[in-house]
Amino acid sequence: MADGQHYDVVIIGTGAGGGTLAHRLAPSGKRILLLERGDYLPRERENWDSTAVFVQGRYRAPEFWYDEHGHEFPPETNYYVGGNTKFYGAALFRLRPQDFGELRHHDGVSPSASTCTWGCPSAPPRTRRAQYGSATTHRARPSM
Ligand SMILES: Cc1cc2nc3c(=O)[nH]c(=O)nc-3n(C[C@H](O)[C@H](O)[C@H](O)COP(=O)(O)OP(=O)(O)OC[C@H]3O[C@@H](n4cnc5c(N)ncnc54)[C@H](O)[C@@H]3O)c2cc1C
Repeated sequence: MADGQHYDVVIIGTGAGGGTLAHRLAPSGKRILLLERGDYLPRERENWDSTAVFVQGRYRAPEFWYDEHGHEFPPETNYYVGGNTKFYGAALFRLRPQDFGELRHHDGVSPSASTCTWGCPSAPPRTRRAQYGSATTHRARPSM
């Protein structure tokens, strides 16, 4: 490396791909360099403003890409710690464990989800790891 340091693993990007890889490899004892081109997303009221985020593109990368006809377009991409994954995650519904079970509504019963994904002891290890990861992310979310 240019800084004279040796690393066993170099991970580029801190989104779902790079972040989960770093999380998984961290206990291995290997020297890991995690490179991220973006800064931390500033915590501000506009984080929760869908017009600012999606219509005005407040956090969108200030650059243009080109389509196959050579026409430029603003990419829907964000260069921040957490990557596009952070924005995707922010747009997802926050489902509770009970939302996957049978729900009784005024006009009928919504059946239990056929696949048990939340806290199910028989869920495969990879599914449980994913659950744990997303639960950790949710707890870490800032509140305003
Ligand atoms: C609003 C929104 C909704 C979405 N909805 C869906 C959906 O419904 N279903 C779905 O499957 N996908 C969806 N996506 C896409 C999904 O978020 C991405 O496919 C996924 O998060 C990509 O993960 P990733 O780790 O590959 O990349 P990213 O999370 O984008 O991470 C890449 C990281 O690499 C960094 N980086 C880039 N270049 C360099 C460089 N040269 N040097 C150092 N760092 C660099 C970036 O800054 C970024 O942090 C959505 C995305 C957004 C923004």
